[in-house]
Amino acid sequence: MGLKLFNTLSRSIQDFAPLDPAGKRVGMYCCGPTVYDFAHIGNWRSFVFADLVRRYLEFCGYDVKHVMNITDVEDKIIRRVRETKTTLRDFTSQYETAFLDDLKALGCHAPHVTPRATEHIPEIIAIIEKLVARGIAYQAADGSVYFSIEKYRGCGCTYGRLVKLNFDEMRTGERVASDEYEKESLADFALWKARVPEDGEVFWPSPWGEGRPGWHIECSAMSMKVLGESFDLHLGGEDLMFPHHEDEIAQSEGATGKPFVKHWLHGAFLLVEGKKMSKSLGNFFTLRDLLAKGYRAREVRYLLISASYRETFNFTLKGLDAAKSALGRIEECLQKLIEIAEPMLKSTTGMDVSPATLILRQFTDALDEDLNISRAWAVVFDWIRDLNRALAQGRLSPQEAIVAISTWKKLDEVLGLGFRPKAPARLVDDTAYVRGIGLAGTGMPSVQGEENVPDEIIELLQMRMDARKVKDFKRSDEIRDQLKSKGWVIEDSPKGPKLKKL
Ligand SMILES: [Zn+2]
Repeated sequence: MGLKLFNTLSRSIQDFAPLDPAGKRVGMYCCGPTVYDFAHIGNWRSFVFADLVRRYLEFCGYDVKHVMNITDVEDKIIRRVRETKTTLRDFTSQYETAFLDDLKALGCHAPHVTPRATEHIPEIIAIIEKLVARGIAYQAADGSVYFSIEKYRGCGCTYGRLVKLNFDEMRTGERVASDEYEKESLADFALWKARVPEDGEVFWPSPWGEGRPGWHIECSAMSMKVLGESFDLHLGGEDLMFPHHEDEIAQSEGATGKPFVKHWLHGAFLLVEGKKMSKSLGNFFTLRDLLAKGYRAREVRYLLISASYRETFNFTLKGLDAAKSALGRIEECLQKLIEIAEPMLKSTTGMDVSPATLILRQFTDALDEDLNISRAWAVVFDWIRDLNRALAQGRLSPQEAIVAISTWKKLDEVLGLGFRPKAPARLVDDTAYVRGIGLAGTGMPSVQGEENVPDEIIELLQMRMDARKVKDFKRSDEIRDQLKSKGWVIEDSPKGPKLKKL
């Protein structure tokens, strides 16, 4: 088998093979956030999708270098800096921090490199200089430097690799200065924008005078700086195909004369409650809006990765409710598995706890097929159903329960739902992971609540569980009082201990 992915360049499903001759290292670039506001749920679909791709590649044994840029200078940002009368860095840093916090809350691995555009001005200028030297870029009367589509095509290069374009409509010499434009406005686009009064203090010196980079060139500079002139994977939402990605290809290949990216992956559009998201329709959600409604970040993640990345997805609050119960089913099953496995957990050393190979193979077969996540979820839920049946009939041995827990742990390397609390490092071994699931399954009310349980409290909870196991109830009660003095109350229920904030 092996992984197959749809490549927007060829418009077909292709075998995934990295450029690395050893077939091991993979360079992956994902267009990052434009930090002028909180990211909305449509943006999050792209970022969670990128995380899934990375996790699956790592699961398959690839050594992935994941780069996600921070667009911290472009048209919208400059407008907002002007409106809010602040400095560029002060303005963007608040949204950058919020973005990275939300990314973590959604269970996404932090990218290995998160370059900022403003810290790559020399690299940007160097690419533009190459394009000017090759005659593909020129400085216009307005002082800005533009990319000449006519000259680029004249060199035998193709503009319009990802989308079909109508060049008959294009008039030579027409230029577009703004970062975003429609296919119908096809024209030479800005690489370097000459300083205008509206830019305020946002400008840098360059061989063409003071100014700032266009949005598209930023991604070319940052991706090639970290991953080299040719790399394996470039991801983004389908709304970025034109002009952003088309321009990235033209600038990069125009400057280096080498193929820029081998596989282009585009995540499809997201509708909310059946409509295009808009503030006036009341269907515009950031992650924070959804958490404020009482949903957990884990449920949002699950819903975002429940459908194929190439299908337009309708995100609804009803869908989030369904996500909650689907995840509840997994949690409940894991909780029961822990109860059965508990007596053997102390002595797992030397015991066979390798995951169930059949389930893993079915899961892998599904994801190998252009990340067929719906089929992968069907494998997971069929397996959970079978486990529940065996549990109900009382025919699951502690050994089988441990294998099942270990299987889930392996699947979750890709799914990233992490049914585990933030435990102190020394507790994060296999046994603690299993206990951890028990803790997370004890009904802490929200992911925010979960995120906020301090390590100290988890440690006390762990000590109390240990004390109860050896029936040291005096110690257990002491710890309960200690927890209470720190503002946390423990309730013992038939399903296990419940932790609540006072
Ligand atoms: Zn980009």
